[in-house]
Amino acid sequence: TQNIGLLILVDILLITGAWLFYRNVKRELHLAKVKSDFVSNVSHEIRTPLALISMYAETLQLGRLKEESKRQKYYNIIYRETQRLSGIVNNILNFSRIESGRQKLSFGNVNINDIVEDVNNNYNYHFNEKGFTVDTDINHELRSINADKQALTECVINLVDNAVKYSADTKKIHLRTGVRASYQFIEVSDEGIGISPKELKHIFDKFYRVTKGALAHHAKGSGLGLSIVNHLVQGHQGKIEVESTEGKGSTFRILLPINNSAKP
Ligand code: ADP
Repeated sequence: TQNIGLLILVDILLITGAWLFYRNVKRELHLAKVKSDFVSNVSHEIRTPLALISMYAETLQLGRLKEESKRQKYYNIIYRETQRLSGIVNNILNFSRIESGRQKLSFGNVNINDIVEDVNNNYNYHFNEKGFTVDTDINHELRSINADKQALTECVINLVDNAVKYSADTKKIHLRTGVRASYQFIEVSDEGIGISPKELKHIFDKFYRVTKGALAHHAKGSGLGLSIVNHLVQGHQGKIEVESTEGKGSTFRILLPINNSAKP
């Protein structure tokens, strides 16, 4: 009986070992795929604006365009694509700082209405060109809170960028600010493709991208945006809420504590 006991123990150890080995290999393979998808997504995201910038700059440089209005159009495209590139690079830098624990927020007095208005103004050209209408519902009573303006601006840019990317026929975006209990909030809503309840659980995971649906396939992205937004909002002792219905649209809400104790 002692020998049988020993044999069973050896069997259990072997099976556990094989199972652990299988699990690790599976995890490594998954990580390798996530990494290679990320590199290919990001390379694609960087290559497209670079190609456009280089093409339009070359045309301008050769002096082929006689009409001023056409030249203006090309300058606008170059500006827009540069902004897009800088958004991508900011996201990657933010992500690497977050991963290595080097992300530092610099707090100061911020009126969140200014952030929403700045993003709306800076993106105006982009919205018009893509056929989007943006309506804003700003609460003008809001007082300044202790926050990092640049970080929050990046959060709103990421949410607005997603609202544009994941909209189909109805190209409407709503930006809203307000107060709820001890929080001020910034809300970005779209009437786009929406997110299924199953996928909703994962959208804040780093590298996560919903792959289903033709539209989601065509939209470019790195899967980093929302994980960065989540992290930056948590750095403000805030929280982020999402309400979404497939085929109807999504609302992302950043809630920021009115009295947060973070030091400037
Ligand atoms: P990505 O670079 O893929 O846009 P994000 O982290 O910003 O990465 O978003 C993760 C995923 O969440 C996206 O791939 C998309 O499937 C989904 N998603 C984000 N925002 C929206 C939205 N407004 N409407 C529908 N789906 C969205």
